[in-house]
Amino acid sequence: MVNVAQYNALKQQLSNDGVGLVAVTKLRSIAEIQALYDLGHRVFGENRVQELLDKQQQLPQDIEWHFIGHLQRNKVKYIAPFVAVIHAIDSWELLQTVEREATKCGRAINCLLQVHIAQESNKFGMTDDELLGLWEQQDLSKLSAARVVGLMGMATFTEDLEQIRSEFRHLSRLFAYLQQHNMHQIPLSTLSMGMSGDYSIAIEEGSTLVRVGSLLFE
Ligand SMILES: *Cc1c(COP(=O)(O)O)cnc(C)c1O
Repeated sequence: MVNVAQYNALKQQLSNDGVGLVAVTKLRSIAEIQALYDLGHRVFGENRVQELLDKQQQLPQDIEWHFIGHLQRNKVKYIAPFVAVIHAIDSWELLQTVEREATKCGRAINCLLQVHIAQESNKFGMTDDELLGLWEQQDLSKLSAARVVGLMGMATFTEDLEQIRSEFRHLSRLFAYLQQHNMHQIPLSTLSMGMSGDYSIAIEEGSTLVRVGSLLFE
């Protein structure tokens, strides 16, 4: 069930800070998503391709879907017809695949480059060097259908709040660096960081878009 009070409180807090909300609905039922939709929410995130496809077909067509999970190149074609934002671009090859598939659909998809900021080895994303290498070596201004609009990262799952803060701060600095060294002249507007357990810290460190799931449900 949707925790309506929690949702309303979060929306209020985020709107005060000018931060966007992706409601993460992985493993949640159609009825639960519809309930959030009926409260006026339109931006939803899923992390598995098949689950996203099933839900997208059954739910209202004006939902803005964000794909937040690890994405294999051979699956881009399934979500390209409708997905608004892909959060976890971790290679130039994946970005080129999105460019190709979005072009075929005659649409643009916003893309976030995922950086591995956590200490855990099981979180995806590019190292700082891979990110900066991609940024310096590829001509991102040539992409017209895969629009790079920012960065995404996930902090370590830990009780150590200072550890989390330092990881978000690091991502925020990378984001600022790219904005200052933006030879591609692309609009870098989105810093996607923060989940149920750490979104307040993420906002303090400059997040513009949080991805919150479990907090919204009971
Ligand atoms: C599941 C998930 C979230 C939301 O996590 P919660 O702790 O439920 O808020 C955010 N981002 C990604 C990439 C996820 O997979």
